[in-house]
Amino acid sequence: MQQRNSGVPASKVPGEISQPFIDMVMSMQDSAFIEVSDVFDYDIKPPTVQFKRVKCDVCGEMVIEKYARILDDKIACIPCLEKEQRVF
Ligand SMILES: [Zn+2]
Repeated sequence: MQQRNSGVPASKVPGEISQPFIDMVMSMQDSAFIEVSDVFDYDIKPPTVQFKRVKCDVCGEMVIEKYARILDDKIACIPCLEKEQRVF
């Protein structure tokens, strides 16, 4: 730990220091550091996020409200808005 705390990379710690710890971990029972349980089912549901959709008054396509824009008191999708803006 002293070596590691002073910035010595794990690969540079001398074997005579690191090997006793490696041997200790390798001789431990798995249950000393992991817990294995029976397999169980999760009740995974799809996300309930739903996006409100509105109809583009220009092309008639449905568009997620967040991406709809107002164009001359009408609802417009972004492609329709961009087409209109190119006209001017
Ligand atoms: Zn449109």
